[in-house]
Amino acid sequence: MTPLFSDTIVALSTPPGAGALAVVRLSGPSAVDITAAVFSKKSFAAAAGHTLHYGAIREAGGELIDEVVVALYRAPRSFTREDVVEISCHGSDYVVRQVLALLLRHGARLAEAGEFTKRAFLNGALDLAQAEAVADLIAADSALSHRVALNQLRGGFSQELRDLRGRLIKFAALLELELDFGEEDVEFADRTGLAHLLAEVRGVVAGLLRSFELGNVIKNGITAVIAGRPNAGKSTLLNALLREERAIVSAIPGTTRDFIEDEVSIEGLRFRFVDTAGLRDNPADEVEAIGVSRTRQRVRQAALLVYLFDLAELSPAQVHTEIAELTAGLDLPVLAVGNKADLATAEQLAAFEQAFRQAERPGAAPMPLVLLAAGQNQGLEALQAALVAQVRGSALENTASATIVTNVRHARALETAASHLAAVQAGLDTGRGTELLAADLRHALAALGEITGEISSEDLLTSIFTQFCIGK
Ligand code: GDP
Repeated sequence: MTPLFSDTIVALSTPPGAGALAVVRLSGPSAVDITAAVFSKKSFAAAAGHTLHYGAIREAGGELIDEVVVALYRAPRSFTREDVVEISCHGSDYVVRQVLALLLRHGARLAEAGEFTKRAFLNGALDLAQAEAVADLIAADSALSHRVALNQLRGGFSQELRDLRGRLIKFAALLELELDFGEEDVEFADRTGLAHLLAEVRGVVAGLLRSFELGNVIKNGITAVIAGRPNAGKSTLLNALLREERAIVSAIPGTTRDFIEDEVSIEGLRFRFVDTAGLRDNPADEVEAIGVSRTRQRVRQAALLVYLFDLAELSPAQVHTEIAELTAGLDLPVLAVGNKADLATAEQLAAFEQAFRQAERPGAAPMPLVLLAAGQNQGLEALQAALVAQVRGSALENTASATIVTNVRHARALETAASHLAAVQAGLDTGRGTELLAADLRHALAALGEITGEISSEDLLTSIFTQFCIGK
């Protein structure tokens, strides 16, 4: 295979700044020669791939820059499928600058953002969805986002898309048959068979699209608003969840005037908790009034509402009423959390729970209720379990597919494919001409092909890879 690129790129692949080590990476046909020109180890130029070499990097005048370890990967057994050299030097900005400058003087070119991964894609080492997973994997900061990115990188999603395209191509072939034999009135592509295949494919696409909801949650976290009357213990609960004194805890009602946000990872899911100013019907002053209206606004934007109340202050019926007011017109999962359980007896708590169930709207799904004492760090595990169950329950049960779509670009392409498939369906139902069906089908296939990069444009590639950092 003739190489696609004639130039050799170089960049710092570890984060800038002081560290024990820094890795400078080269990729391209001259990666080995350029390194050999500045590296003391004479056998390097002819060395086999997948080997490590210890030696010195020197200026042209012989001045020592650093002692380094060089890893050599020969094409095509490398990340980019080109010759790749990774120079591990000491992690000082000065050393890195000197090494980079020297390599540039010897003919390497500074890599653009994402250029290593872009070469890996263009040289066929990765498809586009896998290349994007590299960025996700680097950015992953929770167990779940890591697992999803890794699955995508290993080609799980790409395989699913290939299967899908395969089935659609089979469908297209049946239509072509019908086109060929249409005039002879041969029923190769019997309508029920076609409709069946189409329904199946549309189901898979819809499942992938639904998984995007969960994918978003995994990648970006879920926003949970903690709301309730002043003094219910919202700041205390937030602090307990974050295990640090971020919110202002105060015994004076209505002191939490602004929003305090922070993130906490529970069982691999990232929750972004938002504490709100106390909700009250008659704000005591103007500042508080602004807080209340903004609270309602925040509730509207939240993915989950944690309604916190003081068990001694509100009756179960009042809790239901306040939640109903707060969520009027919204389709929002709610967790009711009764606080200050330490001040109640076990009998009182049991009675509360029973009355809470009785006050529930008949026919409605039971609202999760957790009784705890935030101030004593009691019952937090039950709350965390309820939070995770709430998210998993609403998002995961809709996701039959093992693949979880996390990328907005992929979701858009799937939406496009879904709308073209819907057009095919409509065409089948109304007996549209086979040519028109085939055209819609081609559009759907193209949309799916864009995800893995079987169909791509320079603009698309540029917009994807410039989101990467230099050196990736
Ligand atoms: P907020 O206005 O809803 O943010 O309420 P705060 O978090 O400021 O708490 C109001 C008061 O309730 C403070 O004096 C807390 O110490 C107290 N408090 C919070 N949680 C508990 C709890 O679990 N048990 C008891 N006994 N008091 C609590």
